[in-house]
Amino acid sequence: MKILLIQAPSVESATTERVYPIGIVIVATHLVRAGHQVALLDMNMEADAYGALKNRLLAERPDVVGLSLRNIDPLANKTSSLIPPFIITTRMVCAILPETPIVAGGTGFSLFPRRLMEELPEIRYGLTGGAESSFPELLQNFDQPGKISGLCYRENERVRINPVSADYSFDNYLVPDRDLISPDPYKGVNAYAPIFGIETKRGCPLKCAYCVYPQLQGKVMRCRKPIDVVNEMEMLQTRYGIGDFHFNDPVVNLPAGHLEDICEDILRRKLKVTWTGFFREDALDEDKVRLYEKAGCSCFSFSPDGFCQSSLDILQKKLKVSDIIKAAELTAQTDVLSIYHFMTNVPGENSGTIQEAKALIDRLYEIHAPKRNLGAIILNNIRIMPGTSIEAIARNEGEIDADTDLLYPVYYNPRKHETMRYELETYHTTKNVFTWQKVELK
Ligand code: SF4
Repeated sequence: MKILLIQAPSVESATTERVYPIGIVIVATHLVRAGHQVALLDMNMEADAYGALKNRLLAERPDVVGLSLRNIDPLANKTSSLIPPFIITTRMVCAILPETPIVAGGTGFSLFPRRLMEELPEIRYGLTGGAESSFPELLQNFDQPGKISGLCYRENERVRINPVSADYSFDNYLVPDRDLISPDPYKGVNAYAPIFGIETKRGCPLKCAYCVYPQLQGKVMRCRKPIDVVNEMEMLQTRYGIGDFHFNDPVVNLPAGHLEDICEDILRRKLKVTWTGFFREDALDEDKVRLYEKAGCSCFSFSPDGFCQSSLDILQKKLKVSDIIKAAELTAQTDVLSIYHFMTNVPGENSGTIQEAKALIDRLYEIHAPKRNLGAIILNNIRIMPGTSIEAIARNEGEIDADTDLLYPVYYNPRKHETMRYELETYHTTKNVFTWQKVELK
């Protein structure tokens, strides 16, 4: 069959940092192996996204269109949504090729499959979870697909959703074929974030109160063989000249030994690459931090989220404030930048916890002062996602009710301390500006 896979708009504008659409490339690689003819379109890279969509639909006239919704909104406290462009994209496909069935999927779709299938009758099927196996399986028997993992379908005008099978393993992993979408136009597009992602594992056994990763990828970490990860990095460097990567893992340095084996292999092969990922604070030690730096780590990204012990506990981080400080002390000895993400106005926070937050900010600045390697402190309110503990807390407290539509941006930010983020932002940004300008703060 002839399939057109479309990455629906995932960013607000052409000036926003973007990522190479690895999800649709993974699915396309499997579809090609199953004998299908596949074309891809990333609307995020088009100056005229809907014009490009129309042209590709008319040029390809596919048998099936696959639509990927990666992000539902841009997060970062923003109230804009990526659902309207997804709806417009879906309706445009249907208007231009009314006979062509649409299959929707992607991370954003997987969070709200029923809601989106109900809103958009134009979608014939949905696929939740990873679709690399389920999409080819669906195409084998499109009219009577049966019990495919994660399949969303309509029966007697009701949306039915098959459970996602939890047995994914990397044994059948196919290295995504980057020839399907050339990496060249993506090079140099971003000012900060690496644009090319690599998977080293899926799943997360932790249960942070706001997070949907375990729902989306499973609660057990399944790891790729380190040699396969480094083979892919080496191939991407040799073949496409790509040397800067983001490890897409939920947590890059768990389980113990996996990232270390990847780093040892990078060093053994003398690869000149750089990479980033999200690190777990309590899994670091001096030897590991030194190894990561030597093997090309270009940024230690942390997401401790809670500024004080009570917030860490309510967010179910299974971390202590001392773990955050110890991680900072270790990474501050390197020439690599560290970035810290925190949540503000989390349940239970009050004027006392604001003082604890300021004390931790002071400590992080002190620790990183000698080498000036504090990249950023990023503050956010919690985006309430369905099925999370934060959703339950917000409902119990009356912050949201049965009429709240979580499809669109809803943040947990109770009235009493709703300006906490601005107070802490002012506090740490003042420190930042004065430090960088070498002006003494009186
Ligand atoms: S926030 Fe990170 S560590 Fe916590 S559950 Fe989500 S992926 Fe796992």
